[in-house]
Amino acid sequence: MRAVTYVKNDTVEIHEKPIPEIAADEVLLKVGGAGLCHSDIAIIGMGDDNPLIGSTLGHEVSGTVEKLGENVQGWNVGDAALVALVLSCGQCGECLAGRDNQCEVVSPRNSLAPLSPGIGVDGGMADYIKVKARHLDPLGDLDVVAAAPLADAALTPMHAISRVKDRLTGDATVVVLGLGGLGHMGLQILLATTGARIIGLDTDPEKLAFAESKGAIAIPSDADAADKIMDLTNGIGADVVFDFVGVQPTVTTAVNVVRNGGAIRFVGLGNGGFDYVAGSASPLPWGVEIERAYGGTRAEMREVIALAQQGKIGVEVKRYPLDDAVRAFDDLHHGRIQGRGVLVP
Ligand SMILES: [Zn+2]
Ligand SMILES: [Zn+2]
Repeated sequence: MRAVTYVKNDTVEIHEKPIPEIAADEVLLKVGGAGLCHSDIAIIGMGDDNPLIGSTLGHEVSGTVEKLGENVQGWNVGDAALVALVLSCGQCGECLAGRDNQCEVVSPRNSLAPLSPGIGVDGGMADYIKVKARHLDPLGDLDVVAAAPLADAALTPMHAISRVKDRLTGDATVVVLGLGGLGHMGLQILLATTGARIIGLDTDPEKLAFAESKGAIAIPSDADAADKIMDLTNGIGADVVFDFVGVQPTVTTAVNVVRNGGAIRFVGLGNGGFDYVAGSASPLPWGVEIERAYGGTRAEMREVIALAQQGKIGVEVKRYPLDDAVRAFDDLHHGRIQGRGVLVP
């Protein structure tokens, strides 16, 4: 089968690999779609001695059941399924508490990332992927290609939003930094599940137009953006700021526009930062709450599938044949994808 393989720094190639053999508790999934994520660019940019070299990429994976292991129950050949982002153990304290996205077995403290398809085991940018049956959720009648990004581009904002839900009242102002893959889904989830006023920022006019068409206030992400947000909130600042990019300018904006007692969720992994000062010289207003989050829980994955099935959220998908993976990575790297790029075998 064909498999998009990380071969060396900043380089992917399509390699021929054997179709995986499945164990008794596994399913062979015929891949329907595999989403392209900025994390993929980050992963392949980690040098020539990265242990992930040689593996198949792709952590946003949907498909149809091709073959069942002998102990698998509840699935039939042809069923459409979404692969969990975090391949959690299901048994540790975090998993049992419903926080499987930070499973302590598959993401030991200070690990690079929790075990995910394409990050530690072969991912879904291939004709087939093997996965434990318990790491699948049913997609029903959803378009199996367009559903792939639900596993990360929708799940990750869903988790960030769920964690601050009590703040997202009808009189709250939310700032969404970045309206790309994660941001355009975060915007829709906020609109579908909260009454908050939403201000969306991006550098790309097309992405701003998308946000405006959905009912958000759209502001170009430039040097004046923070002042505009402060004006829109009468000098108070935003109740919640979601940074779906995480580069230096967006991190700085988040710190500069959050209100006293507000919350920031740094979701994008763009390696921006600020100096935390334990004193009066801190750049943060008093009372601000910050959380470092990864992905989302399985319960939240079911919630995004349900929202998609109800037509309340939808991924803007740019489809690429699997054979065009190198071009798709290049388009992502240069910001030429509106919404989410999905490889289709
Ligand atoms: Zn991702
Ligand atoms: Zn666990």
